[in-house]
Amino acid sequence: MEKTDATFSQGKKTNGSDDINLDDYINMKVATMPPTWEDPAAALANARHEFGEHGGVNMSIEASATFTVMEPETMRRMFAGELGADRDFFIYSRHFNPTVLNLGRKMAALEGTEAAYCTASGMSAISSVLLQLCRSGGHIVASRSLYGGTHALLANFLPRACNITTTFVDLSDLEAVKEAIVEGTTKLLYFEAVSNPTLAVANVPELSRIAHDKGAVVVVDNTFTPMVLSPARLGADVVIHSISKFVSGGADIIAGAVCGPASLINSMMNLHEGTLMLLGPTMNAKVAFELSERIPHLSLRMKEHCNRAMVYATRMKKLGLKVIYPGLEDHPDHLLLKSMANKEYGYGGLLCLDMETEERANKLMDILQNVTQFGLMAVSLGYHETLMSCSGSSTSSEMSAEARELAGISAGLVRMSIGYSGTLEQRWGQFEKALLKMKDY
Ligand SMILES: *Cc1c(COP(=O)(O)O)cnc(C)c1O
Repeated sequence: MEKTDATFSQGKKTNGSDDINLDDYINMKVATMPPTWEDPAAALANARHEFGEHGGVNMSIEASATFTVMEPETMRRMFAGELGADRDFFIYSRHFNPTVLNLGRKMAALEGTEAAYCTASGMSAISSVLLQLCRSGGHIVASRSLYGGTHALLANFLPRACNITTTFVDLSDLEAVKEAIVEGTTKLLYFEAVSNPTLAVANVPELSRIAHDKGAVVVVDNTFTPMVLSPARLGADVVIHSISKFVSGGADIIAGAVCGPASLINSMMNLHEGTLMLLGPTMNAKVAFELSERIPHLSLRMKEHCNRAMVYATRMKKLGLKVIYPGLEDHPDHLLLKSMANKEYGYGGLLCLDMETEERANKLMDILQNVTQFGLMAVSLGYHETLMSCSGSSTSSEMSAEARELAGISAGLVRMSIGYSGTLEQRWGQFEKALLKMKDY
C-alpha cells in the first residue's frame, strides 16, 4: 500500500493556486480506490516501521517546535518549496512534525486513504475540513442525526461566522438527499458512518454516488466504527476521526484526524491558505507518540468491543428489553451494515437501550454504576470500561427537542459503549443483577 506514503508538496503552492478542483478531486478518488477488499489491519504489516534514534523498537519522539538547517540556503529552499516534498525537511511543528506525521501515516493506512494528518481534537478535524472545502456562501448537506457538537457547528456557528449554511436531511431518504444537493452550490455531503446516538447506518456507496453525480465532496465521520467500516473504500472522499474515542481507547486524550487525498491534506497544510496551518489545531508530538503505541492493538480491541456488544444485545433482546443494535437482525440497517462491514469485526461497540423515560434510564444507570459496577455514567466511547449516558439530556442536548425527535432520540435512550475489562460473563452477571433491582421501579 504505497498509497500511504503519499508525497506531500510542502509549501510548493502559496497563493491560492491550489484551490481544490472538486472534479479532479473526485476523479482521483475513484482512481485510487483499491481493487480488493482487505482487513484494514493488513495495512499495518506493510506500513513503514519507524525505529528510534538509538535503534529502539519504538520511534523517537520529535519534541522540537522548530528545526535547524545546516546551511542558510536550505531555509530559503524550504520556504520556496524546493525541499520538503518527501517530508525529509521540516520547518516548524505547527506545520509538520515527524512524530505527528507518522501517526497520520498509520491513520491513512487504516482508512485506506492517500494521506492523513492528526489534530488536537475531533472537532478541530471537522471544522478544519469544512472550512478548507467551503467558502463564504457555501452550502453543505448533512445528516439530521449527528454528534451534538457537529450539529451545533453546522447549525449555529458556520452560518453566523462564515456564511456557510447547511440543509439537514434524513439520510435514509436517498431522494431527499439528492434533492437537497444543489449542483454548483453544495460543496459537500457530511454524515457519520454509524450515527450518534441512534446507530442508524449510512449507505456510504449510494450516498457517495449521489453526491459525486452533483460534484459534491463526501466527508464521513467514522468515529463510531474504526476497522469495522472503511468509508473511503466504500466511496467517501474524506474520513474524519475523533481519535479521543476507540482509536485512543484510554479515555485520556482528546485528538482527531483527517484522512483523505494528499491534495486535500496539502491544501490544509499550505503555509498561506491552509486551515491546519493557519487556525493551528495542532497535535502535540508527545500525544502523537502515545497514540501511535495504541494503533497496533486497535483491531484486537475493536473485535472484543464488537463481540461483547453483540452478545449483550442478543441477551438483552431475549429478556424483552428494547435494544437498538445494528448487529441484530431486527435493526432496520442490519443488512446494509453487513454488506459494507469489513469481515470479522462485527457490528460496532455501541448499543442503545430504550428505557422509555428519562427517569427509568437514570435509575438503571445509577444501579449499573453504583450498585453492580457494570459500567460508568460518562459521555464518550471506546473505553475499556462500559460507558453509559442518556443521550437526550447529554451529548445530544445541543439539539432542539424537535431535532431530537426527528433524529429518533427518545428521552429514555441509554447509549452504552461496551467495554472489555473483566470477563464477559462477569459483566453480564452485573447487568442482570441490576435488572432485578429495577423490578421495583
Ligand atoms: C466525540 C465525537 C466528535 C468530537 O470529537 P472530539 O475529539 O471530542 O473533539 C465528533 N464526532 C463524533 C461522532 C464523536 O463521537
